[in-house]
Amino acid sequence: MKFANHAGRAVIVLGDEIADVAEISGGRFGSDPASLYDEWDDFRAFAETVTSATGPLDPAALRNPSPRPRQVFAIGLNYRTHAEESGMAIPEVPATFTKFPESLSGPFDDVPITGGSVDWEVELVVIVGRAARSVSRDDAWSHLAGVTVGQDISDRQLQFAAGMQFSLGKSRTGFGPMGPWLVTPDELPNPDDLGLGCSLDGEVVQDARTSDLIFDVPALVEELSSVLTLRPGDVVFTGTPSGVGMARQPARSLAAGQVLESWVEAVGTIRNRCV
Ligand code: ZN
Repeated sequence: MKFANHAGRAVIVLGDEIADVAEISGGRFGSDPASLYDEWDDFRAFAETVTSATGPLDPAALRNPSPRPRQVFAIGLNYRTHAEESGMAIPEVPATFTKFPESLSGPFDDVPITGGSVDWEVELVVIVGRAARSVSRDDAWSHLAGVTVGQDISDRQLQFAAGMQFSLGKSRTGFGPMGPWLVTPDELPNPDDLGLGCSLDGEVVQDARTSDLIFDVPALVEELSSVLTLRPGDVVFTGTPSGVGMARQPARSLAAGQVLESWVEAVGTIRNRCV
């Protein structure tokens, strides 16, 4: 199932059409995409029965599929190649920070560029569908609603200011585009081995597979849920592979006018213009 936030309303995506959840369920489920994560299992079962659309899909109307997460987790240095290009040691536990929820945005929203060190980081993003507390890796995927594409846009100057402040440096307004929709794990050929990448004005700058993650999705759910409870709608940015601008010789950064496209295999593509 593909689940989307279409102009603020929860919809099921059926090809190039949508089924409005509140409308097609006769009001059994509400129209607010965020509220559906709190009854995800019931909604999933209902969604299986939906085969007819209520209207056309308008890509320009797509928004962040999890618009009000209680918690946003992000993992640094989670691909060996990226740790190496950054000159950092391979972490022994997931290097965890947050993107403050206010920084999250939609799949086709603009990215406002501030200063000369704004960088790209394509990431697989997972969204929690069932509260998770001390969940083992074998049960991890059953607690996830699904996956989406994300960009962990980073202001490197702010990120490394005052020692290290990853959370703030990755939380400027518009620094967390997500979408274009959530795809449930059953629709993925192998949820632990997905191609992902991004391009800048058509030039591919990142290209990898999630099977190269140091801490894969089940390991992240096990580790994070051993510390605190993951709540429905919570978001995890799982880390970026090599190819970021900061690690290049010479270093590169995003500039107004450029277009950043980011994709995950079997999920979709998001497109963000730098302004
Ligand atoms: Zn990142």
